[in-house]
Amino acid sequence: MVAAARSGNTIFRRFALPFLLVFLFVWFLYNFNTPPVVQNVEKAAISIPEQSIETLTTTVTDYVMATRTITEMIVETTTSVDVEQQEEVVLTNNKKLEQKGISTATSNDEEPYQREKACFVILARNTDRAGIRSAIQMIEDRFNHKYHYPYVFLNDVPFHQDFIDYTTALASGETFYGLVEEDMWGYPDWVDQDKAWELRDKMGELDIPYGDSESYRHMCRFQSGFFFRHPLLDNYDYYWRVEPDIHFTCDIDYDPFRFMRENDLKYSFTITLLEFEETIETLWDTTKEFIKKYPEYIIPFNSSDSFISWISPDNGESYNLCHFWSNFEIGSLNWLRSDAYLTFFNHLDKTGGFFYERWGDAPVHSIAAALMLRKSEMHFFYDMGYFHDHVTHCPDEPAWLPIEKCSCDPADSIDDDRLYSCTAEWLDVLERKRTTLLLHNEFPSLRTFLTSKGLNLFTANLHPIIILSFVLQTRA
Ligand code: GDP
Ligand code: MN
Repeated sequence: MVAAARSGNTIFRRFALPFLLVFLFVWFLYNFNTPPVVQNVEKAAISIPEQSIETLTTTVTDYVMATRTITEMIVETTTSVDVEQQEEVVLTNNKKLEQKGISTATSNDEEPYQREKACFVILARNTDRAGIRSAIQMIEDRFNHKYHYPYVFLNDVPFHQDFIDYTTALASGETFYGLVEEDMWGYPDWVDQDKAWELRDKMGELDIPYGDSESYRHMCRFQSGFFFRHPLLDNYDYYWRVEPDIHFTCDIDYDPFRFMRENDLKYSFTITLLEFEETIETLWDTTKEFIKKYPEYIIPFNSSDSFISWISPDNGESYNLCHFWSNFEIGSLNWLRSDAYLTFFNHLDKTGGFFYERWGDAPVHSIAAALMLRKSEMHFFYDMGYFHDHVTHCPDEPAWLPIEKCSCDPADSIDDDRLYSCTAEWLDVLERKRTTLLLHNEFPSLRTFLTSKGLNLFTANLHPIIILSFVLQTRA
């Protein structure tokens, strides 16, 4: 009797218990985090499959790829930081914030969150006050109320006290206000100002945006070659550029700065566009001279790391006008401060093209990135809904939409519009699928994901086992 009972117990432990545990695990994986609306759809649609098993395998592979990125991200963001490695600037910032009565903990953590050496950087005029306040409010609501990153405001004239007061009031992190001196905003001595004035006048007649604006040219040159060298940015490694009246239309519930550092990323974007050709007539020829003169700074075009093909259809002969829209950027200040980038900027600047033409910082940053950065050093923040000046990027992942807390309409997103945007080409060149770019901490269950793909294939009991075998296969 005792032996029989023991052997029954052993069989249970060896076989039934592991089976039960695996079943429960799969059931949990399958059902966890399923929004009610999807459950209803699922109930209504238990039908015989039309899709082939191949479709299911591909779909599950997509899912596994996407969740792997997210799982890595979550593990990374919750890993505790070695106290000895904490940078002094972070501690100083925390202290200052606490003195201001601002909590340095994120709302979910009891331990103070160790921010990155990073800040928002906002170049603005006093007249941009309302637009900047609106932008800050949106950043706080969608992201910074949990992280309290500081803001650095820059202006070529002193900020008015009310601008300072009204923006500090909205920020949950420290705020700093700096003047941009003439060495970063004025004319360099090699530029012929009369010639610049004449050419500006001509461009104004052609109805090109900002064609006749002098201040716009100073602004573009400053954003191309100087903001990252402003003393107020000395203590930071990463920046997030913000402009008046921008919208962030999805919750950002992870720290993009940390994501940049941990993945050794140098530059990131949300929207890509085509530049007005008339504003950069000689920019590419000037760039080609740079490529010839400084090959040591260029990722060889024949390397698989190079993404020259994103900006040039003929291996560097011509420029296709594609650029990252730089009013949103999260990037590495150290990259911009590097010899490679500064040599590029100085080479461009010497020709006076920022003034004689109207070179924008967007093509300048983008060309530099395409020449000098490896594919793996760029990131498309696909999960950040973003809007500026009538152009929208809105994530359109069907499996993700029910839970992502976005207020934008994916139908308005410019991403797939190959006439105006280069984002689809960027995904092609990098051989990236959008799903692998989702970094949002929440991701739908496998069940939600499959349902969203129209895969209501099996009865409830069969589902988990079959799916598990696919998951194991795709992981193997
Ligand atoms: P657009 O996005 O290309 O249409 O250009 P914006 O007019 O939005 O300017 C880009 C950024 O530079 C915004 O953050 C502006 O506030 C800022 N900006 C533009 N011109 C000036 C200027 O003359 N002085 C200062 N301080 N900021 C400027
Ligand atoms: Mn703008």
